[in-house]
Amino acid sequence: MKFISLLVLVLFSVAIGTAQDSFIIENVKVFNGDAIIESTSVKVENGIIVEVSKRIKASDETVIIDGNGKTLMPALSNAHVHAWSAEALKEAAKAGVLNVMDMHGVETYQSAMRQLKDSTNYARYYVAGYAATAPEGHGTQFGFPAPTLSKPEEAAKFIEDRVKANVDHIKIIVEPWKATLDSETVAELIKEAHKAEKIAVVHVSRLEDAVDVISNDADGLVHIWWDKELEPSKLKELSESKSFFVIPTLLTTIKFFESIGSGAEKFLTKNQLLSEVKKMYDAGIPILAGTDPPNAGINYGSDLYKELELIRETGMPILEVLKSGTSNITKAFGLENTGFIKVGYIADLILVDGDPTKDIQDINNSKTIWKKGKQVK
Ligand SMILES: [Zn+2]
Repeated sequence: MKFISLLVLVLFSVAIGTAQDSFIIENVKVFNGDAIIESTSVKVENGIIVEVSKRIKASDETVIIDGNGKTLMPALSNAHVHAWSAEALKEAAKAGVLNVMDMHGVETYQSAMRQLKDSTNYARYYVAGYAATAPEGHGTQFGFPAPTLSKPEEAAKFIEDRVKANVDHIKIIVEPWKATLDSETVAELIKEAHKAEKIAVVHVSRLEDAVDVISNDADGLVHIWWDKELEPSKLKELSESKSFFVIPTLLTTIKFFESIGSGAEKFLTKNQLLSEVKKMYDAGIPILAGTDPPNAGINYGSDLYKELELIRETGMPILEVLKSGTSNITKAFGLENTGFIKVGYIADLILVDGDPTKDIQDINNSKTIWKKGKQVK
């Protein structure tokens, strides 16, 4: 008797196990990471998207979810975070943010958090490890010891150490309000990162530094500059000769300006920041959504929706705004099989009430989230 009930329990769990990450969402509007499909169905089997078509054959056991009045989109990513604990990854996942890019943290703490990549209720954690910065430079003030460097000859060793720590990308800090790396050292770090087949992204706050690091082949900027507007001729030259992306962190920058009050007068206004982003988008530069939590009290989850709203305020088309929080990020950081709703891709999905492809505010509506086909709780 005991054996039978145990057997039933085991069989029951197996049945739940297969149903859990296999289902069909019917009659749903889809933003697939590229474009809109007005009404279709999406079949997920063992956590993978196996079919996207208007009519999908379902067996009796198939779990069917009605997508009427809802929109299905790829899960979000956040291209700029600093996560100090697993709780942060949980907060992100709960809001449908399933990939986060860490831009400076303690390598020894990060390895345990990275192992949560297959846990349903946690975002996948991609890291830079320690950011490259000068002694006493920005990034050294957070109370944890971080390696620094001061000349080009030290770049190869710095990158070698990050590669040993198995980082995903390289982050470099140029922040002249404090001691900072010089242009030659930054150029050498970028070169060494590329030799090690890592992308190199750079923190800048001044236009002059942005232009310099892009000229030295940086793959991306993790903030937009605050001090000056980019000349159209310079933008044309950069966008035609270099390939790079920008994570403007508008929410962070605007909140930071609010916190310093009248001191912010010497910087660009909110409208100027928005128009810098729009200019870059118009020049064909990919825009990526990132919020830099926990800076400025920003959370790891739903505050990313506010960044999308700000990116929308720049005047970028709404599909491009949705790309900035999904496929633009997975493409830029080379994440495989995620960021799109296409056959063969991992079923990282958000099914949201309403239509964020018409009104970005709808991203705030109630939603169901799946990570690799399993519902995030
Ligand atoms: Zn940051």
